[in-house]
Amino acid sequence: MATKTIIQQLETKHVDWVEATSILFNMAIAFYFDLLQGHELLLKLPTKQILTELEKLTVETSQNPQPAFPLLWDLPAYFRRAAINSAIGAARSFYSNLAQWNKRKEKAEAKGKKFVERPPVPPRQWHQHPLLYAGMYELGEGFVLLKLFTGQSWCWIKFKLVGRNINQGWKQASPKLVLKGKRIQLHIPFEKMVKVKKIQDQLKEDSEFKICAVDLNINDNLAVCKILKADGTQIASRLIGGGASSSGRRKRALGRVAKKRSKTNSGPRENERDNKQLWEKVNNIDQYEAHRVSRRIVEFAAQYGAKVIVFEHLGNFKVQRGKYSRRGNEKRSYWLRGKIFKFTKYKAFELGIITSRVNPKNTSRDCAYCGAKVARHNRNERAIGYRTGAPLYTCPEDHKGNKGNADLNAAVNIGKRFFARYIISTPQKPCLKGQGVSVLYIAEVKGWKLKASLRQENRDGQVASPSVSAVNCELNEVAAIGRWSPQRLTLPQLLRVSSIHGCA
Ligand SMILES: [Zn+2]
Repeated sequence: MATKTIIQQLETKHVDWVEATSILFNMAIAFYFDLLQGHELLLKLPTKQILTELEKLTVETSQNPQPAFPLLWDLPAYFRRAAINSAIGAARSFYSNLAQWNKRKEKAEAKGKKFVERPPVPPRQWHQHPLLYAGMYELGEGFVLLKLFTGQSWCWIKFKLVGRNINQGWKQASPKLVLKGKRIQLHIPFEKMVKVKKIQDQLKEDSEFKICAVDLNINDNLAVCKILKADGTQIASRLIGGGASSSGRRKRALGRVAKKRSKTNSGPRENERDNKQLWEKVNNIDQYEAHRVSRRIVEFAAQYGAKVIVFEHLGNFKVQRGKYSRRGNEKRSYWLRGKIFKFTKYKAFELGIITSRVNPKNTSRDCAYCGAKVARHNRNERAIGYRTGAPLYTCPEDHKGNKGNADLNAAVNIGKRFFARYIISTPQKPCLKGQGVSVLYIAEVKGWKLKASLRQENRDGQVASPSVSAVNCELNEVAAIGRWSPQRLTLPQLLRVSSIHGCA
């Protein structure tokens, strides 16, 4: 299911009524949430049934003249049901958090550890936007009718609509009424069923199956993309830049925040408004960039017919030393990557392209062609050592294309890691047993019936880093593709290879 939300700006009128409606909605949620806390067992029922039970408890009708907990306000049925469903959702999430907390506590106590984490608390305040079920609104050609609470009664109001039209094939869900300061918005979600075939099946059926591998960075090239085929063929590359300029703008804004802070003798309140504007600016830069970059990634992937966009899992940000603006800026650059991933995911899914993530370990350190550890360096610098973030890489092995853009190398590694996941079949290790070698995975590759990545175990049971090798269990032969050009070896020779490798 793909979803997207279209935001419609409404005319600024009857803001107080919108506000009253919103307050009432939240009071109703609070009322039903309290009721659910007192009747926790209800949550075991399906949502529809909980709704019926809660209405029995609270709504007076001719069949139900004396409910046990009469509702304090006169609410339209659809408004009430939206509030009840929001309360059920909130209660479900609260109790599931509580259950998880209890589990962690038990686990810690069973291990004899001290457990200091605080239990989750039910919300004390409610700030949900009124959810408008049918019967509370009517969308027309260029206008919307809303049923609002005036403070005394309910009243239909017409608002003009200007905004983009809805794509074909999308199903509209219940909108939310959002008040932002004095601005009134209608957030209308749309849903579409998107069918995606299993990747295994796609790989089998489509010899032209392509992916778009993406390396996200905090330097100028925010995203480095590569279109790859399963056999490793590289179809196209794209660098999506602009990181330096947005990072510069963000850093200047953060610098101004820092300056304001240091100047403030009169307490933070005086500057609150200025700071708020600056923060808004910083957020806008990130939001804009995340949308721009994600859109271009998806366009690039779609242009080449890629079926999957592959990222690496994003690591945690390690705080660096330095000035406030610098630290803050770096942190935000890391966050930006997360945002780009998130936006890409939903934008791609609308087109039936799925998103996947792979293990990030050494994607920048290994040569995508041969697997050797590369040197990473600046232009005009000797290709020795590994300088994190430097633009170029050079592979110590002599092969075609052994140097170039370090981020493109990382992107290819990310793509290869994705394919490696799908050409795995059942592990087999009969003939290699006893040689200090275990087979990690086996799959079909050119000419060789079976291919395996090997893992060498030292005598003390330590596992050395895997080397890239191919094994044919039937022939009892091994080809090492590691740092050498492919060569065939019989089993006894493998151990010699290992020692050259420096692994065993
Ligand atoms: Zn290489």
